[in-house]
Amino acid sequence: MKKHNLLLQTVSIFAFAFLLFRITQAQSRVDKILINEAMRITGDEFSSFTNTPKGARVYSVNKANSKMLDAIDQGLKDLFAVTARHNYTNRTKYSDYTIFIAKPDRLKDFEGKYSPDIAVGAAQYAGTIYDKGGYIYAAGMVLAFNPCAFVIGEHTKNLERVSEVVRYEGEHLILYHNDRKFYNKTADHSKGGGHPILQ
Ligand SMILES: [Zn+2]
Repeated sequence: MKKHNLLLQTVSIFAFAFLLFRITQAQSRVDKILINEAMRITGDEFSSFTNTPKGARVYSVNKANSKMLDAIDQGLKDLFAVTARHNYTNRTKYSDYTIFIAKPDRLKDFEGKYSPDIAVGAAQYAGTIYDKGGYIYAAGMVLAFNPCAFVIGEHTKNLERVSEVVRYEGEHLILYHNDRKFYNKTADHSKGGGHPILQ
């Protein structure tokens, strides 16, 4: 009898370990796709991974410091506050979000203000005031909707801007998952309109 119990236990431990293994495999497959997309857009390598204190997932070119992680949490907190006012309930957990921190392609904007932005292909912005010769400078950019992911530039100061960019990119993702019509109307800034979208 005792022996039998032990066998059962061993089997269940194996089953659990196998399940965990499968989950880890599945996660890394999705993450691999995300990382490839982030690499394609920024040309950067994202060798560091961590979670924010509230549980958002962060890939970065350099190890993200606690100020950066707290600023991300603050941005998501602001996003979820405005999301609640609109009674949106989808994708309102910190862990729903994966944020990529890329190497900025410029540190100052045209006015000389600290503005670590990333250069991305102009696409629909070609020929608009944003077009800087085939590319535009962006504070952030949505990478994927399932799971929710976006990329922002690494900041060494003015961390409030990180919170702001996180909130703003998050707006597109929240709208995509809660109000597709409104999302479609506000996703493309080349047709005008900016942030904040949600008041
Ligand atoms: Zn936007």
